[in-house]
Amino acid sequence: MVKAIFLDKDGTLVDNSGYPTIIPTDKLLYHDILVGLSWLQQQGYVLILISNQSWIAKGRLSQTEVQMIFSSVWQQLRQADILIKDMFYCPHASWDNCSCRKPLPKLILKAVKKHGIDLSKSYMVGDMEDDILAGQRAGVKTILVQTGCGKKYVSTVIPDFIISNLNHIHEVIDND
Ligand SMILES: [Mg+2]
Ligand SMILES: [Zn+2]
Repeated sequence: MVKAIFLDKDGTLVDNSGYPTIIPTDKLLYHDILVGLSWLQQQGYVLILISNQSWIAKGRLSQTEVQMIFSSVWQQLRQADILIKDMFYCPHASWDNCSCRKPLPKLILKAVKKHGIDLSKSYMVGDMEDDILAGQRAGVKTILVQTGCGKKYVSTVIPDFIISNLNHIHEVIDND
């Protein structure tokens, strides 16, 4: 059994300023993430992306464009010696009532099954309520990053930990 960090993409790994008018793409938050991701990797965590991409349902990005963005994120991180083990995204919008969109835990659970992940040792990290809820429903601990939309998080959904960005993740996981 492996331990994993489930990572949201937009606002957690990449810049989402101007959201939801400007579509977040592949512009990594380099200064906020690389140290943290390397540390996680050294600790033996497998890194997995779990993302909502309703731009597809809204007709603002094609499946191909989304796949190119994910591929670019994967390659940029690979060049920084960080390996994203797998990537999952939901192409639907909230009105589709699909079974895979966060806050539902389905994509996390799909990854868990595929990679033999130990939920009790894993975490979901994201910048929005839907990330925290999805993590809670999957049965992993949750971490809110105060990047992206996390800068102004207002919710009754309380994450286990709050950090200013991914580079601070060792502060909460180390003592956990
Ligand atoms: Mg996000
Ligand atoms: Zn979906």
